[in-house]
Amino acid sequence: MDHIAADTPAWAMLAYLIAGVLFILSLRGLSSPETSQQGNRYGMIGMLIAVATTLLLHGTGLPLIVAAIAIGGTIGWFIAQKIQMTMMPELVAGFHSLVGMAAVLVGASAYLNPDAFGIVDSAGQILTASRIELGLGVAIGAITFSGSVIAFLKLSGRMSGSPILLPARHVINLAVLAGILGLIGYFVFDSQPAVFWTITALSFAIGFLLIIPIGGADMPVVISMLNSYSGWAAAAMGFTLQNTAMIITGALVGSSGAILSYIMCKAMNRSFISVIAGGFGAEAEAGGPKGSAVAKPYKAGSAEDAAFIMKNAESVIIVPGYGMAVSQAQHALREMGDLLKAEGVSVKYAIHPVAGRMPGHMNVLLAESNVPYDEVFELEDINSDFGQCDVAFVIGANDVTNPLAKTDKTSPIYGMPVLDVEKAKTVLFIKRSMGGVGYAGVDNPVFYMDNTMMLLADAKKMVETIVKNLGH
Ligand code: NDP
Repeated sequence: MDHIAADTPAWAMLAYLIAGVLFILSLRGLSSPETSQQGNRYGMIGMLIAVATTLLLHGTGLPLIVAAIAIGGTIGWFIAQKIQMTMMPELVAGFHSLVGMAAVLVGASAYLNPDAFGIVDSAGQILTASRIELGLGVAIGAITFSGSVIAFLKLSGRMSGSPILLPARHVINLAVLAGILGLIGYFVFDSQPAVFWTITALSFAIGFLLIIPIGGADMPVVISMLNSYSGWAAAAMGFTLQNTAMIITGALVGSSGAILSYIMCKAMNRSFISVIAGGFGAEAEAGGPKGSAVAKPYKAGSAEDAAFIMKNAESVIIVPGYGMAVSQAQHALREMGDLLKAEGVSVKYAIHPVAGRMPGHMNVLLAESNVPYDEVFELEDINSDFGQCDVAFVIGANDVTNPLAKTDKTSPIYGMPVLDVEKAKTVLFIKRSMGGVGYAGVDNPVFYMDNTMMLLADAKKMVETIVKNLGH
């Protein structure tokens, strides 16, 4: 086969179409916890068909491809062994950066050797459509790469999570974006190397500039936005390689990531444009109580107290957060729920859309520990119940319960809807120490309320001791 992207035979087109349908069924399955496993299976079969078809199409380079898969697979296997559930968001950001870089590399090799990719006209010039695809492909890929690297550094704590604001950043960003778009237009008429490499360099720069000002509560939106970009980068690569499966898969990832970003924006009460423009949470520098510099009075309790209070309650709403994930307390928590239900207590779980460190984080953990789906409620469906419930049991959640989000305009989480735990008759609040703060770095007034009892310990250890006390 002379060209990397030769005309695709009918059987391969059909196989790619089947893979595409399976990917759509997979996304459909993943939209609900009950059907998610089936959805995953469809996705895996679809990917198997797509990969096998591509390998059969490009039989000549098989040893190289197999060697690359073996090296990449081995690295992936080692990473998967090491990675903890709480490190998933940074891992996902890291992987997105690889998708972006792959798009840049494919674009660059197509640009440097267009003949091999079959994208030249009879005069040996790169086709007009391919110039647009190449320009857009490397631009989106480079933005995805540098943006994801910054997201990785912020999520893994290697770089400060708070916004880094350059003066006149909006002007700089707009000028760079306009420059990239203008150059892509110019590239259609003049494909000299200086134009191509300037598009690439400016795109690396804008990815970096777009993500550094984003901090605090807007990071979840950034993760799903970069997920979407990585999809569009893959779709652009699909055009360059004339691979239908990649175009379909890239477009599915791109559009589902965009829809998720939109849902997350709505959940966080942010406008999409303002998140992309960056700089939210900047006010955190100016105001908002930080940590617990001044010791305030609070009530501390023991596992025995907590067990006694909950045993005698009629209703308990459990609010899990990042701390539950860190300590892997979900199994003990389900056991606690079972014991309470056996005592005739009504038990429900309240899930905030950005609890934890990735979309759906809490749902995954609760499903893993077999918490029944009908006991798990989204914020808007349960928030009005706190006023009538006896106990709000907050386990390792902080920002998502902070009432300052409703009142304090200087708070970095101002405007984000929160779970109204303070309205419960009693709040039991598990965290390790009074000094620790959540992701947004702000203190939570719920700790110091009269109806709050702080349970200061590792979440898993605390719940296990509560379970022991409930068993008596
Ligand atoms: P937070 O980060 O606000 O709070 C976590 C709490 O858990 C802290 O109070 C911490 O206190 C406690 N904690 C940590 N480890 C343990 C442990 N082993 N045992 C007991 N407690 C522990 O979490 P939330 O879930 O409330 O909020 C999520 C935040 O993360 C939001 O600000 C959100 O914007 C952000 N975010 C969310 C993403 C998403 O997609 N969901 C992605 C990126 C960011 P202490 O240290 O004292 O124990």
